[in-house]
Amino acid sequence: MVRYVYDFLDGGRDLAGLLGGKGANLAEMTRLGLPVPPGFIVSTEACRAFLATGEEPKGMSAEVSRHLSALETGVGRLLGQGYDPLLVSVRSGARFSMPGMMETVLDIGLNDDSVLGLAKVSGSERFAWDSYRRLVHMYGSTVMGVDPALFDEAMTLLKDAREAPDDLHLDASDLVWLVETYKSLIRNETGRDFPQSPAQQLQQAILAVFRSWNAERAVLYRRRERIPDDLGTAVTVQRMVFGNLGPDSGSGVAFTRDPATGRPGLYGDYLPNAQGEDVVSGVRDAVPLAELERLDPRSYRQLRDHAQTLERHYRDLCDIEFTIERGTLWMLQTRVGKRTAEAAFAIATELVQEGLLGPDEGLARVSGDGLARLMFPRFDTTATGETLARGVPASPGAAVGAAVFDSAEAVQRAAADEKVVLVREETTPDDLPGMVAAQAVLTGRGGKTSHAAVVARGMGRVCVCGAQDIIVNAEARRFTARDGIVVEEGTVISVDGSTGDVFLGAVPLVASATMRYLESGEEADSVVSAVARALDHADSIRRLEVRANADTPEDAARARRFGAQGIGLCRTEHMFLGERRKLVEAMIVARTDADRDRALAALLPLQRRDFTGILEAMDGVPVTIRLLDPPLHEFLPDRTDLAVRIAAAEATGQQPEAHHVELLAAVNRMHEENPMLGLRGVRLGLVVPGLIAMQVRAIAEAVVERTRAGGSPHAEIMVPLVGAVEELRLAREEVVRVLTEVGEETGTPVHCPVGTMIELPRAALTAGRIAEEADFFSFGTNDLTQTTWGFSRDDVEAAFFSAYLDKGVFAASPFETLDREGVGRLVRIAVEEGRAARPDLETGICGEHGGDPESIQFFHEVGLDYVSCSPFRVPVARLEAGRAALADMDTSDGR
Ligand code: PEP
Ligand code: MG
Repeated sequence: MVRYVYDFLDGGRDLAGLLGGKGANLAEMTRLGLPVPPGFIVSTEACRAFLATGEEPKGMSAEVSRHLSALETGVGRLLGQGYDPLLVSVRSGARFSMPGMMETVLDIGLNDDSVLGLAKVSGSERFAWDSYRRLVHMYGSTVMGVDPALFDEAMTLLKDAREAPDDLHLDASDLVWLVETYKSLIRNETGRDFPQSPAQQLQQAILAVFRSWNAERAVLYRRRERIPDDLGTAVTVQRMVFGNLGPDSGSGVAFTRDPATGRPGLYGDYLPNAQGEDVVSGVRDAVPLAELERLDPRSYRQLRDHAQTLERHYRDLCDIEFTIERGTLWMLQTRVGKRTAEAAFAIATELVQEGLLGPDEGLARVSGDGLARLMFPRFDTTATGETLARGVPASPGAAVGAAVFDSAEAVQRAAADEKVVLVREETTPDDLPGMVAAQAVLTGRGGKTSHAAVVARGMGRVCVCGAQDIIVNAEARRFTARDGIVVEEGTVISVDGSTGDVFLGAVPLVASATMRYLESGEEADSVVSAVARALDHADSIRRLEVRANADTPEDAARARRFGAQGIGLCRTEHMFLGERRKLVEAMIVARTDADRDRALAALLPLQRRDFTGILEAMDGVPVTIRLLDPPLHEFLPDRTDLAVRIAAAEATGQQPEAHHVELLAAVNRMHEENPMLGLRGVRLGLVVPGLIAMQVRAIAEAVVERTRAGGSPHAEIMVPLVGAVEELRLAREEVVRVLTEVGEETGTPVHCPVGTMIELPRAALTAGRIAEEADFFSFGTNDLTQTTWGFSRDDVEAAFFSAYLDKGVFAASPFETLDREGVGRLVRIAVEEGRAARPDLETGICGEHGGDPESIQFFHEVGLDYVSCSPFRVPVARLEAGRAALADMDTSDGR
């Protein structure tokens, strides 16, 4: 029989898939002997069964009853009994953390009877009724589906009537009134009563938490974080402990290190006389943990010791939720904590230095995405604008955008390509779409552990929270800042998530310390040193080489400084633009061979100079030069433009310019409905006489020039858009003919490998044949994605990709992250069949995917020799290539 319920004593962190992260870690802490209130976990398997059928799985409720009885026996009290009732919390907890996205119901077991018993045993009527109103509110909204805003309205009315600044200023009779009001609200809204049976409360709360797996915000969060939709959540049922029992009680959140900077030492927020939910929602401002040390030194010391135990045990930054009930510390949750990119690098390096991790494990803890974030520019602190406010620097980075005051507005403006900053008094999980759309989040309340901060950090959004200087009036769509400055919706502000400063206007940006290091080797601070260590280690273990896509000497030089081991794609089309366009035009409209040869001859020295510069910047390493790819009409003037000019001339009785007429004829001749599938790539080389010869001659002469200058040029010639081996054979013959010719003319033999791009499905499927003529393959995954899916790469992303992402057709754009199943399969086939035909075949990738972390893992797996990406992605690719290599090593640490 399937088992659905597990006691804390039965589990451990290795069971996170079944028990959810929260449940598994509670079990782990119980095993470590930390003070965890007892409880049990209903598994994700039960949730999946419930979501699949809409019914509680058979046997689950009997198991719950059995575990509840055991809990009651252990504690010595019954759930919801009249005197001194046992109360439990019912919390969600999926395999991967989804902060605030699913539901929780606290204080299960309270009813009209047991609330009196709780009042008696606690000696506090206020506490008992405060707990009851929390239950009725949470249960009413979560289980019975009443709009939570109605409960909040009643609370606000009461606070206003009592002139109470917060809920602490309400007394027991106020709370009795509130409970009654909430109950009649439920009755009015649902036609049903708040249930008095504790067993029914428990059962319904568990099912409601299951259902919240499919809440809109949870679905959106999963899509963003790429968490599979079919995992389901576990539910933890745990004896309640109370942080709201008076001044010697409270709740808090702690990190074993600072999650923003990685600095060691206990870090967090504490809220006296409050339950945990109050801390994360930011309804009242928490105090730093240092304050707890003053208020309750014993609990603080215990917390510090437990934090250390956890960090050593998990060998990572942990975050902790805890409650102090009348001077007794209870641990309510722990997990490996989310952190900023800065903190990830700093912590990984420190844990390696402390000997807690090996260098491979340290590398596994950082990511290419994190490194990319560290490379983003920062604000120029010498040129800051007027300071509007300073808050808690909760998630670093520099962001500029128009202030907006609700999630919907943020989404709408961002969809129109406007950069926005979402400004809220405090955020709720329902603000998630706006947080995704915004460049930054700014809140007036809450600390580093508030919901806004946690979610923003997780997504790499800039976040400043708890900016006390601002008063947000969301209804009037404005906020008032320091010195009474009023910021209306749409006003541009700058948010510095590294310092907590908020400025009026757009502050200019400068290079980050990490970028300066990559450019010059200067190790400005400990984070930069940590990045350097991680990159060094990645370089020492990676198998994939990293090259760059660059087509100017400047880009080539930068790529080299960033660690590129060559150029994997030098596109030659930009060399046909600017002033040279006239020469290209002349080549295209040439009537005679002699005219065309003249135009080509004029282009030759210019191309030679381009190649010489690049080969010099990349001396000693390979430079893969691709022959011209785009259709020639891209170099001609616009068709409509020309037609209008000619028509205008004719309309005024003048003779149109002959050159214009000639050009229009050429444009019309070459017009294509689908130029991406038309006369481009190798096809162009085969039908425009002299084009391949001119480019190859320029390359060969550049090689000779560099060789004579004492250099070590390694040019490789790459033929684009080949679909059949015959195309490559013809192109190759021409290439070899010209290379030989230049060798004989100059007396310096020129040897360049000749290879092809694999960027059409037919090329991938006939790779064995094509390899007969190719020294190397380079996968053009941009075109290969375009042609495999039948997606026009220039159009589809704007046209319907956001709808496809929303509908879950794919989790990421296939132009960003390689589609392993389809395009990846073609890559795999081509590598295998290409290598089978030619064992020394060199293979690489030069599409945009070459700089994408997830895709790099795949390219490592299929055994490519190198990835090539834009110069700015080179460090990211080095790091990810190192991380990919970890998979081949035995780095298991028994976890
Ligand atoms: C490709 O198609 O992946 C590629 C690198 O070539 P381009 O983007 O220039 O078409
Ligand atoms: Mg291409």
